[in-house]
Parts: sequence; structure tokens; C-alpha cells
Amino acid sequence: MRSRSHLLNDTTADRYRRSVTEGIERVAAKLATTERPFTGVTVDALAPRIDRVDLDKPLHDTTAVLDELEDVYLRDAIYFHHPRYLAHLNCPVVIPALVGEAVLSAVNSSLDTWDQSAGATLIERRLIDWTNERIGFGPSADGVFTSGGSQSNLQALLLAREEAKSDAYADLRIFASEAGHFSVKKSAKLLGLGPDAVVTVPTGNDKRMRTVALAHELERCERDGLVPMAVVATAGTTDFGSIDPLPEIAELCEQFGTWLHVDAAYGCGLLASLRNRHRIDGIERADSVTVDYHKSFFQPVSSSAVLVRDAATLRHATYHAEYLNPRRSVQERIPNQVDKSLQTTRRFDALKLWMTLRTMGADGIGRLFDEVCDLAERGWQLLAADPRYDVVVAPSLSTLVFRYIPAAVTDPAEIDRANLYARKALFASGDAVVAGTKVGGRHFLKFTLLNPETTTDDIAAVLDLIAGHAEQYLGESLDRAS
Ligand SMILES: *Cc1c(COP(=O)(O)O)cnc(C)c1O
Repeated sequence: MRSRSHLLNDTTADRYRRSVTEGIERVAAKLATTERPFTGVTVDALAPRIDRVDLDKPLHDTTAVLDELEDVYLRDAIYFHHPRYLAHLNCPVVIPALVGEAVLSAVNSSLDTWDQSAGATLIERRLIDWTNERIGFGPSADGVFTSGGSQSNLQALLLAREEAKSDAYADLRIFASEAGHFSVKKSAKLLGLGPDAVVTVPTGNDKRMRTVALAHELERCERDGLVPMAVVATAGTTDFGSIDPLPEIAELCEQFGTWLHVDAAYGCGLLASLRNRHRIDGIERADSVTVDYHKSFFQPVSSSAVLVRDAATLRHATYHAEYLNPRRSVQERIPNQVDKSLQTTRRFDALKLWMTLRTMGADGIGRLFDEVCDLAERGWQLLAADPRYDVVVAPSLSTLVFRYIPAAVTDPAEIDRANLYARKALFASGDAVVAGTKVGGRHFLKFTLLNPETTTDDIAAVLDLIAGHAEQYLGESLDRAS
């Protein structure tokens, strides 16, 4: 009896309402009391608390389970809504999307076939069409929601491989810039291409793909009797937010008959922008596009899609199973999204974007993304004027890469160590969270600004904190030396 009372149905609607509300109340209370993005908890402190939980001894009571959850998760989670979380491509999420999340997980539609997702399939298709219109694709475009940018890139490259002029996998080449995403290399491996399949094209000082170098590599590829399978242009690199020159790259792809994939996992926010949409002009010439709504549309993970200019290319992901999506369902015009997807059972993530657009509109999202791009511009001015810091490149989106450069220290390895230390110390303090990366072999720090609530004062304060930690490290390092 007791177990059945946990099943969601007509007799348990009250329990459902009470339990979920209780969970939501805990998060709401957290939002009200979180003063720092992180507590600074260590793995060693947290692991035993989680290990101690006896998974074979249930507590039976939502309140007790949530109390325990406070201890093993909620207290020490990293909170992206906090204005001093400045690290990775995690956005604060919008409330309409959370309403969608609550509905979609309870109804639990599965987007593989129409007979598991009536309505949901059509809503997803409308959103794919909506996105394609924003991209500027014509009426033959299509696409499907995915689990994330990595999966979108994998699927796009699968289509490109199947459309390539050769099926000798060892001869196929993919061109991506040195600032491109590592999922391109992973995809090449999964797709059975050779170890040299991904040709890295250098970027200029602006961290955008050098098209002269791309042209050179494409020519060399053909000269060597190899096949240029795809060019991956990045519209918003993960590290710098830089946007590869899409029109010039599209020109080259046309000339060489090469599939153009635009990885706009980050830059897709510009599709809703009121002022900066032109920065991704040329995206409409792509054969396929990756968008991550969970990065720059303020959606909860997961929410992502792969879009294609020519719907017919999606057939490369189509397989039929008699029990699920038999061939005859195509003739009967039954819309089975599994025909287009790498996944089978699949969440109705599209509902979150639907709720968002129906509540705030695309302009609402675009305005938020424009705000973080403006913030990055102001952060860039702060950094450029601050003698304590070296900053790599003016922002194209909302990312800043910089490093602390003490006036008195000339040893580059020591400067590296000071920056590494500052990042770790800041994380351990929980006062702010920033990311790190390497540029030209040296360690840098990174702000990914996706929270419109973050202010210039927050940025200035975090820069002071970083400088303080770095100085402390260098002071102690001097002591050690003497
Ligand atoms: C984040 C990112 C990806 C991967 O997306 P996931 O949703 O994390 O799988 C791919 N490309 C770029 C440029 C990204 O920034």
C-alpha cells in the first residue's frame, strides 16, 4: 500500500502537490539566504556525508528526505543565480522555464513517437521552425532538440560524414579553429574517422578563425587527395566568445563543396538579441547549426537543438523498429521525432522554451543576453585600465579572459602559479567562482558573464579579491625563498 501511495495518479494528486511544493519551498528558502555562490566545501568534507547515507533504509517522509538533502547537497551546491558566480557557461534560469520543467517531468511525455507525446511533438516542431526562422533558414529546414551542444555537434557531423563525397573514413577531414569545442574531436572519434581527422585552423589575435589559413588548409587537403568533410565555424567560442567570420567561411565551404556546421552553442543568444543579431550574420548559410538554449536563453539544463538547412539530411539518423516507428508510419504521416534523433526516449525539454517565449517573449530573452554582453564590455574597460591585469581580447559576447600580472615579478612560471593559486583560494573562500584556461601556454582566469544581476561593482570587487589572493601567494612565496 505504502509504495503505491508514491505513484502519481488520481488518488495521489494531493501528495504530489504537497511534496513538490515542499521541494520548491526548500529551493526558494535557499535563494533568500544564499550570500555566496559557494560554501567552499571540499570533496573530503562532503564525500563521507554522502557515503553515510544508507540507500537501503528509506526515510519514507519527504520532509526528512529534504532535511537530509540539505546536508548532502543544497547547503553546498554551487548557485548560478548568485551575481558572483562568474565561471562557466551556466546561466541563471528563468521562472517560466521552471514551470515548464515541473509540468514536463510530471506528465513525462517521451518525444520519440507521436503515441507517447501527442501535442508535445508539435510544440517541439514549432520551436524548431521558430529557431530556423531566426537563423534565416528557408522552408526546407528542420532539426530536433538534443541533450546538449556536444550531442548536437555529433549529430551534425554524422550528417556531414554521410553527405561527404567519399566513404573512405580515413580520408575525411574536419576543419575547426584552435578555439573550437573539444566535442568536435570526440565526435570525429565516435564517427570512426582517423586520428588526424580534425585539422586545427589557427586563430588571429581576436581568437577568430583565420580564413586565409582555412583556405590554405582546404587547398592542401584536396592536393593531398583527401576529402574536406566539414568546416566547423564557432559562433561564440567557449573560452573567448569569439565569433568566426561566418560569411567568409561560408564562401570557402561553397567553393570546396564542404558541409558548413556552425557551432552556436553559446552565441545562439544573439538570435533573440535586439541589438547584436548582426554579429552572427552568415549563420543562415550553414548546413547545420548547434544551439544551446541552456547557455544563452536562460533555460535549465538540458535544452539544446541541432538545426539543418535541408530536412532530407536528417534521414541519416533514421532507423525503423516495428514496435516503435514502423516504416508505414511515414506514409501515414505520423510525426515520430525519433526518426530525426540520436536518442530514443527523450525529454520534452522544448516545453521550457515554449513557456519562456509565451511568458516573456523572445525580446525578453534577447534583452537579458544583451545586458550581459554590455556588462562584459564594461568589464573589459575595467580590466584594460587596471595595471594589475592583462586582458586577452575585447569581448564579442560575454566572456573575459585575463590574468594577474604583478609589477615586481618577471618569472612567467611564478605568475602562472599566482593565478592558479588565486583561483583556487577564491573557490575555497566561496566568495566568488571564476574559471581558468590557458592562452599561449600560460595560465589565465576567465569570467563568463551570464547573469544580468551581476554589476560592474561585482566585477571590480572580484578583481580585488583575486589580486588579494595572488599577492598573498607571492608574499608567502618570497618568505619561502628567503
Ligand atoms: C558548451 C559548448 C558545447 C557543448 O555543449 P554541451 O551542452 O555542454 O554539451 C559545444 N560547443 C561550444 C562552442 C560550447 O560552448
